[in-house]
Amino acid sequence: MLQGPDVVLACPHCQSLARLFTVANPDPSGAVSWSDGYQEMPLTPAQPNLSRCKNCGKLMWVAECPPVGMIDENHPLPEHEEWKKLPYVEPVEEADYLEALKSGMAPEPERETELRVFAWWRANDRHRRNEGPGRYPQSPEAVENLERLVELLKDGEHEFVLFRAEALRQLGRFDEAQDILHGICSDYAIAREMLAGLIAKKSRDVEVLFSEPLTAGPQPFQEQVSEANA
Ligand SMILES: [Zn+2]
Repeated sequence: MLQGPDVVLACPHCQSLARLFTVANPDPSGAVSWSDGYQEMPLTPAQPNLSRCKNCGKLMWVAECPPVGMIDENHPLPEHEEWKKLPYVEPVEEADYLEALKSGMAPEPERETELRVFAWWRANDRHRRNEGPGRYPQSPEAVENLERLVELLKDGEHEFVLFRAEALRQLGRFDEAQDILHGICSDYAIAREMLAGLIAKKSRDVEVLFSEPLTAGPQPFQEQVSEANA
């Protein structure tokens, strides 16, 4: 992965500044696609869509934070040295996505879908590296989130049908999941067949669908960031 210049953003609530990393050249090696649609690229972290301001503590859509500048190493400016001390915009957890939903940060259905999918992914995260049964969202809030997502995705396109079938499978609603799988076009045949196999086994567990071989590469950027901040 080739890292791009950091972008400096202002908090829309208190105007304090933070840095957002950019990726100039994504490296897909070692990428893992999960049954819930979450894709992990260990060498190319995804930019957060939602974050919490480290100054005022409020949640913010990263895309709605006004950009203030860019730390471009090729064109150094005096303010860059100060900007390099700024904290990075960091991703948030399931509880934060659920809080964003409650506090009205998703007035449109598209935004609500995005927040609910991310809340679901973060709920599944704690099961991705585990073995054994019970690898699906189980808390009342996580179940309610999935049920609402199933409603929201009712009239969606093919990719959304896959999401919806998987949400139904993780809720244990196997018959409904099986029924809608038929509506998925052949572009998604491999994912469709794998989900059908899991439904037939009455499995609710989050599983790996595909993974790319991991080639020797640089240390993941996220780790470098956490070490630098430690
Ligand atoms: Zn703030």
